[in-house]
Amino acid sequence: MIKKTLFEKIIDREIPAKIIYEDDLCIAIEDINPQAPVHVLLIPKKPIEKFSDFKKTDSNLITHLFLKVNEIASICNIPENFRININNGSEAGQEVFHLHIHILGGREFSWPPG
Ligand code: AMP
Repeated sequence: MIKKTLFEKIIDREIPAKIIYEDDLCIAIEDINPQAPVHVLLIPKKPIEKFSDFKKTDSNLITHLFLKVNEIASICNIPENFRININNGSEAGQEVFHLHIHILGGREFSWPPG
């Protein structure tokens, strides 16, 4: 049996999380180690390891996720000012190898990132 990712365990309610939003294709949870007053992880239920693994056949899912970003930003009362971030690969800071979009807001952000 293939080992479940951390986020699959959260989706299957084997590990607790604060769920902000859920539908058939994705789940949004509060990050356990928030880097801003709002820090949500938007996670496809399909366990794609990382962004660069997206295939053309995932087009509907990609559209769904990006439209959900705006909806979740509104749910979290940060509809106009937020940052989205995807760490792709360990050198880019990815620690959990189940694709997720960070949605951060509630403070000012600087650029470039570290
Ligand atoms: P990344 O470094 O892009 O892979 O991001 C992984 C994120 O998952 C980090 O921001 C962690 O704080 C977060 N994280 C790790 N474990 C949990 C958990 N059990 N519940 C919620 N967020 C988590």
